[in-house]
Amino acid sequence: MTHTSDPGFETVIGLEVHAQLLTRSKMYCGCSARYADARPNTHVCPVCAGLPGALPVLNRAAIEFTLLTGLALGCEIPAFSKLDRKNYVYPDLPKGYQISQYDLPLCAAGTLAYVAGGMTRQAGITRVHIEEDTGRLVHRVDEAGASISLVDLNRSGVPLMEIVGEPDLRSPEEAREYLVALRQILRYIGVSTGNMEEGAFRCDANVSVRRLGDPLGAKVEIKNMNSFRAVERALRFEQVRQHAVLAASGQIEQETRGWDEERGVTLSQRTKEQAHDYRYFPEPDLPPLEMNAALLIAVRERLPELPNARRARFGDQYELNEADISVLTAERDVADTFELVIAGMAPDQARIAANWIVNDVIGLQKQRGLPPSQLPLNADQLRELLACLAGGELTARAAKELLPVIGEGESPRAAAARLNLLALNDDGVIEEAVAATLAAFPAAVADYRGGKRAAMGRLIGETIKRTGGRASPDRVRQLLAAALDNET
Ligand SMILES: [Zn+2]
Repeated sequence: MTHTSDPGFETVIGLEVHAQLLTRSKMYCGCSARYADARPNTHVCPVCAGLPGALPVLNRAAIEFTLLTGLALGCEIPAFSKLDRKNYVYPDLPKGYQISQYDLPLCAAGTLAYVAGGMTRQAGITRVHIEEDTGRLVHRVDEAGASISLVDLNRSGVPLMEIVGEPDLRSPEEAREYLVALRQILRYIGVSTGNMEEGAFRCDANVSVRRLGDPLGAKVEIKNMNSFRAVERALRFEQVRQHAVLAASGQIEQETRGWDEERGVTLSQRTKEQAHDYRYFPEPDLPPLEMNAALLIAVRERLPELPNARRARFGDQYELNEADISVLTAERDVADTFELVIAGMAPDQARIAANWIVNDVIGLQKQRGLPPSQLPLNADQLRELLACLAGGELTARAAKELLPVIGEGESPRAAAARLNLLALNDDGVIEEAVAATLAAFPAAVADYRGGKRAAMGRLIGETIKRTGGRASPDRVRQLLAAALDNET
């Protein structure tokens, strides 16, 4: 089966992901790894500035996070691993090399399951290894109008994990879904924010198009993609470009191309002849790593229920549709909150809770620009809100009005009382509203009495409006019907 637009061709894609690890300190020194709001060059020491004679010390948490990732991806964990120097010259790399891993990575031969086109697919994971980030260059124009480049070493030495995938993907959509699934796992296990826009989750894509039946064609590597959408667009562009070259009997050149987001094109950056020779050799300042069985057991115990397992369990355990399950399990914290909220609830109540979280609560989260893992209400607040709804203390309309004005940590019931949104249980007040409505809409009353029962809906709506949305539709219907039928 082929997934390309032209049935005579097949697209082969493999992805390399660099994920920043959520450790407190850097990979080989004690400097803080959190540099987002720091002034340039304030998180720097002789090690991450690459001064001669400074010796690296391996970050244990980074090793554990990488092992946790390997286990989550079903990798083998070899008994022996080592670090290697990857040599190249660039102004943001003060040492002239990165300490990375070459032939003996920490984790090897795993798989990643993802859903594309409604089907669950598997892609191979070649390896997961540790590496360190580089510094950053800031290009600007100085007061004299000259173009200058400044170096900020706050990012230099921040722990990176590289996840290399097998060329098992066959379309840009699959590549996107693979990345979504991978990022979800990294967030579930808490090793990376997976934030692409902030550069904490970066993807390079290797793509080649071949005529069906032909051997694998020349590989083109695409860089500079800062969002899932950019990855999909860049690969689609490249797929079409390579089709056109092959269709015109041309040759695909092995090269590195950069994605230009604004123009929507990939542009050649360097060809095979200019490719880097990194002259890898074993890092002499760090000992090789012998896998400790006790450490591996301890790390394995930290593995939470992973996204695929959780989705499957939600499907078995709760009466929810696939779309809601997908939203509720997208973030581990949201799934946790949902399960706390519905603990002990009957299935129909759990469905109402799911509906509220998926639509209203996540709607409010987006409106407030909160991170996807952070709901605007905690589990206790949500439970109380839903209990008020179920017990008739709040109408659905009043609850929707209440939701955005509940203060942080505030009791929804207290907030409803403060804002006079609690349901009206006083028939006298509802009867007054009914009388006012009947007086204000004689035409609807006449319609209803003339047999147009549909007029009732209008009268219910108007009556509820007169109670500030606090009367329950059922009670209003009963009292309206009583008033209309009595006075004929
Ligand atoms: Zn440092």
